[in-house]
Amino acid sequence: MHQEQEPEVTTARTLPVTLPADTDLVVVGAGIAGLCAALAAAEQGVRVVVLDAHQPGGRAATISRDGFLLNVGPHALYRAGHLSRVLTTHGVQPAGGVVSGTTVGVLRNGVAQRVVLGPIGVLRNPVLRPKSRLRMAALFARVPRMKTAALAGRTVSDWLGDEPDDLQRFMEMFIRLSTYTHAPDQFDAGAAAGQLQLALKGVLYPHGGWATLVASLRGLAEQAGATVIGHAEVESVTADGDRVEVRVGDQRVMARATVIATGGPDTAARLTGTAVDARNGLTEPIAASCLDLGLRRVHEGIVLGMDQPVYLSPHAPLADLAPAGQGLVGVLRYLSPGESPGEPAASRALLFDVARAAGITEDDVVMERAMHRLVVAHGAPAAAGGGLAGRPNIEALGLGNVLVAGDWVGPSGLLADASAASGENAGQAAAKLCARTRS
Ligand SMILES: Cc1cc2nc3c(=O)[nH]c(=O)nc-3n(C[C@H](O)[C@H](O)[C@H](O)COP(=O)(O)OP(=O)(O)OC[C@H]3O[C@@H](n4cnc5c(N)ncnc54)[C@H](O)[C@@H]3O)c2cc1C
Repeated sequence: MHQEQEPEVTTARTLPVTLPADTDLVVVGAGIAGLCAALAAAEQGVRVVVLDAHQPGGRAATISRDGFLLNVGPHALYRAGHLSRVLTTHGVQPAGGVVSGTTVGVLRNGVAQRVVLGPIGVLRNPVLRPKSRLRMAALFARVPRMKTAALAGRTVSDWLGDEPDDLQRFMEMFIRLSTYTHAPDQFDAGAAAGQLQLALKGVLYPHGGWATLVASLRGLAEQAGATVIGHAEVESVTADGDRVEVRVGDQRVMARATVIATGGPDTAARLTGTAVDARNGLTEPIAASCLDLGLRRVHEGIVLGMDQPVYLSPHAPLADLAPAGQGLVGVLRYLSPGESPGEPAASRALLFDVARAAGITEDDVVMERAMHRLVVAHGAPAAAGGGLAGRPNIEALGLGNVLVAGDWVGPSGLLADASAASGENAGQAAAKLCARTRS
């Protein structure tokens, strides 16, 4: 029998704070991209209001559970990346554990084998055939000096296609580790090689988690004059000539420009009613299943999957994220673009098998958090679009004074570095737009 649906009644929400009716720039979203945009614009003397639907931080937030500090899945800060540069040029030196070591566990057929990297280890690498070992030595020596732009427009599979099969799998393991991307047939080789180069310059696990980076960026933006407001979910952004109307519950803010830094292109489209074009430069979103394990003891050693796209890394005590004497390990399964993580219980079991192969037992575990599917980045640079240069730019909406920023935007960097670079770029561009409409 057909049932009549009750018409949906929507009422505008009343916010606990009164927003300014008028400002120069509204930044929507207070993750890495939004805070970098706010900082860059406020430094140009622009009045900036940042609105976030939740607490500032987005995917760079950190929560506390049973004495452990948990990022949104295992996070590493690239020391020579754009986010580090924004912080250090403003006098903030992130403190944390620097990931070092020339040994990794390589997981094949369910068994983790110790592999020593570097020139001497290469020649005894137990997971590569002798012929592949020499080729790998040559490839690893080439990567740091490689002109990565020359690889743009080729897929990772195409780039590594002449290498023996075992060496391809071995290289893909390190590409996954540094990019989080498991899409060799789509991912741009130039972007992949560039990120390998960046990873070789070192990564850091910040003490206290990524929330400390967010707190630093927020502090810098506020010092420069920006106002950051949480729990203010923006419902629409409407461009009208040289003004933009931003609606939040029963309030509205009029601005000269807006930067939408709400994560991915879909939210930007929903807020503005305008779809982002030029999306053929991106793969589907890059996602992962994660398992955080708080351990009663310290566990050491990174494990990388060679025949399956998985990773395990001890984040504490290297970084200060666990109670004294205990350890925190992140386990992750890289999903291919569009791949479903499967049933939560099966997915958790698969991740725990990786931990078991690394020598961790159920008895070691004092805290556990499984996250079934997390979006790591809203698309990786696709070879089909020409790589990094083919990603949508900050003006991708084509709405003049409504710009976008995030880990899917702009020609520089991957992951949080792309968010920081596009955020900074959008903030500077928005400041120029504001100056133009003021004069
Ligand atoms: C498991 C995992 C591991 C990762 N590892 C790394 C790593 O090792 N290194 C690295 O560099 N990067 C890593 N990343 C990626 C990194 O976390 C992201 O690229 C970065 O944090 C994205 O920042 P963003 O500001 O672009 O977006 P987000 O962090 O998604 O921020 C968007 C913000 O917008 C807000 N928002 C959304 N809609 C609205 C609305 N309507 N109104 C107001 N506010 C709104 C949200 O609340 C959120 O705060 C990882 C991510 C994951 C999930």
